[in-house]
Amino acid sequence: FIISDTGGGHRSAANAVISALSATGAEVTCEMVDLLKASGLPGIQNAPELYAFFSSGHIWLHNFLFRLSNTSWFMDTASRLLYGFARNRIHKVIDAFGPDLVVVIHPLAVRPMCTYRDEFGSPWPVVTIVTDLISVHASWLSPCADLYLLSTPESVAIAKQHGVLTPKIKMTGFPVHPRFYSLQPDREIARKQLEIDSNRFTLLLTSGGAGGGQVEVLVSELERECPQCTLLVVTGRNQFLFRKLTERRSASSHTHVYGFIDNMEQLMAACDAVITKAGPGTIMEAAAQRRPLILTGAVGLQEEGNIRFVIDSGIGIHCPSPSAVSKQVHSLMNGSFHSNLPMVFPVAGTHSIADQLLSIMGH
Ligand code: UDP
Repeated sequence: FIISDTGGGHRSAANAVISALSATGAEVTCEMVDLLKASGLPGIQNAPELYAFFSSGHIWLHNFLFRLSNTSWFMDTASRLLYGFARNRIHKVIDAFGPDLVVVIHPLAVRPMCTYRDEFGSPWPVVTIVTDLISVHASWLSPCADLYLLSTPESVAIAKQHGVLTPKIKMTGFPVHPRFYSLQPDREIARKQLEIDSNRFTLLLTSGGAGGGQVEVLVSELERECPQCTLLVVTGRNQFLFRKLTERRSASSHTHVYGFIDNMEQLMAACDAVITKAGPGTIMEAAAQRRPLILTGAVGLQEEGNIRFVIDSGIGIHCPSPSAVSKQVHSLMNGSFHSNLPMVFPVAGTHSIADQLLSIMGH
């Protein structure tokens, strides 16, 4: 599994699929590698830190680069160049594994892995799991990959526009970790486990793995305007934000600040609503747990289409300003807004992704 920790979604998706594969009982050994780090290329190996920098106040720069590079021609050229520099390091890393199958869950790794396979005549297929829902960047899409596993008709259409042939495309749904939809503790139990007040309206405020966006402003707004709520604030890998929130004098003893957590499903189970940027992983996890979503906005153009997706699917709403968020929380508490989750929502593509991988390996 080729990923990178630019945000938290790529690793979460890989973990979800690995868990589903192991649940099948098939004899499969899975390894995860951060190819961008392994490339050793200045800039590229620091992609997680760069993404964190972009998402905390420099999103205009990220969007500029997104637009500039959003063509197959640009990505082919840039990837060839970068591959040339990183070839030996990539070779060393992949060779150490000797894989039967390479599953790519990061846009910047698709082309290098296809080039590597072709150059060395490697027998393994390259399967790409696209974790963006709607606004899929050209970097994800290369006719050279062997199979594409996608989540929405919109992403299928974009893949075809970039020359991916129909037989190489399967719409499986999104890789949500099974712990988000199986054996969830109920709200009260989850609150007891987290040692928070069981009777208060509880909001989960999260902003992806990098903890970018406007979390601090939202915390102040919600503490001021919704003092009757408990806030569970997840800062992810944003240590600066974590320190800022934990060191300040909180207006409420019902604000709980967490750093990077690995029990997101428990916090979601404990809450009445999820307030988040439009990250696809968090959206699909909240939908799987049937928690209403309040989207604060897109952190990067790749998340732009997710807002419409959430609204159209009836699983949440978009509140672009902190005051709109607090108003919406009041509506939720009064019962005048409830998410309107369809009974069958195509959230959990995890098992069908696992089936596709096993079938390509001949299991
Ligand atoms: N996540 C986590 N711990 C944290 C913060 C986030 O496990 O402290 C997970 C979250 O559950 C989701 C992923 O990181 O699976 C975030 O993915 P998303 O697509 O929402 O945003 P990204 O971080 O990729 O921009």
